[in-house]
Amino acid sequence: MNILRPTRENLDDVAVALLAGQHAILPTETVYGLAANAANEEAVRQIFALKGRPADNPLIVHVSSLKQAEGFVAELPESAHLLAEAFMPGPLTLVLPKRPEVSSIITGGLNTVAIRMPDHPACLGIMELGNLALAMPSANIFMGLSPTKVEMINTLLAEKVYAIVDGGACRFGIESTVIDLTGEPTILRPGSISREEIEAVLSREVRARGAGVRNSPGMYRRHYAPRTPCRIVASLGSDQPGLVLDRPSNSHQIQLPRDPAEYARQLYAAMAELDTHGLPEFGIVAPPEDGRWTAVWDRLSKATA
Ligand code: AMP
Ligand code: MG
Repeated sequence: MNILRPTRENLDDVAVALLAGQHAILPTETVYGLAANAANEEAVRQIFALKGRPADNPLIVHVSSLKQAEGFVAELPESAHLLAEAFMPGPLTLVLPKRPEVSSIITGGLNTVAIRMPDHPACLGIMELGNLALAMPSANIFMGLSPTKVEMINTLLAEKVYAIVDGGACRFGIESTVIDLTGEPTILRPGSISREEIEAVLSREVRARGAGVRNSPGMYRRHYAPRTPCRIVASLGSDQPGLVLDRPSNSHQIQLPRDPAEYARQLYAAMAELDTHGLPEFGIVAPPEDGRWTAVWDRLSKATA
């Protein structure tokens, strides 16, 4: 396993490997990603095999500038410019009409493409040094927890890539907000950037997935799940394992913060730690239900489905 510090020399080295069609695991502000050169169809195809990801689950194209995004999207509507201005680089993915030349392997056969500009110096640095856009899903095996630090990366996957760049713990800890801008703006996946923040920037209402809104391919009921079966509970007994909001009462309880952003940042690592104990199951004490917790609730429902 080739774990590299994000020095200029190492970033250069990884950019060269990506340009040669190899894969790398890179830090972003959301979760660690499994990267391939978006312009190399064979390298992109291999991502699906490496992760065990179904071919109809489209990949997000990561760019380091809007200029680069223009190479993939047929047009950038006004809403995309406004959101880019407000949130890029950052944990927001825009779904837009694709240019005809964008590989259907990336888009899962759709005529749209998802674009994101990650807010992480190492990842941005590699893209800039190689003048590269990256097809990059989370660096996990399909359905599993996305890694938010290097220690969480599956060792079999780690051994199949050219290198892992260690950028420390991810700042947000859950996957990006995905918004479809091809029609009425619609949030396909909630994330750290909230619907309210997006509505404020667009000065209009934004729909969210749920009743009446079509599903995005690659949105599964169960996803982002630990290996150990888990469920949401109102409270945990002093002998029961799981995630709690108050002081833990045994060594198999992990306390998560009552702030939704901090909770999201720590959630996957906490579930991964519980996985190491070989428990038959664990509970997750229900966090508050107000809108600030929407993205956390989305991940908890998927983990427990
Ligand atoms: P990730 O597993 O974080 O790479 O998530 C990528 C997700 O973004 C996919 O599973 C889709 O749900 C969504 N996505 C990517 N591209 C598109 C697209 N063209 N249209 C709709 N959703 C997309
Ligand atoms: Mg993923």
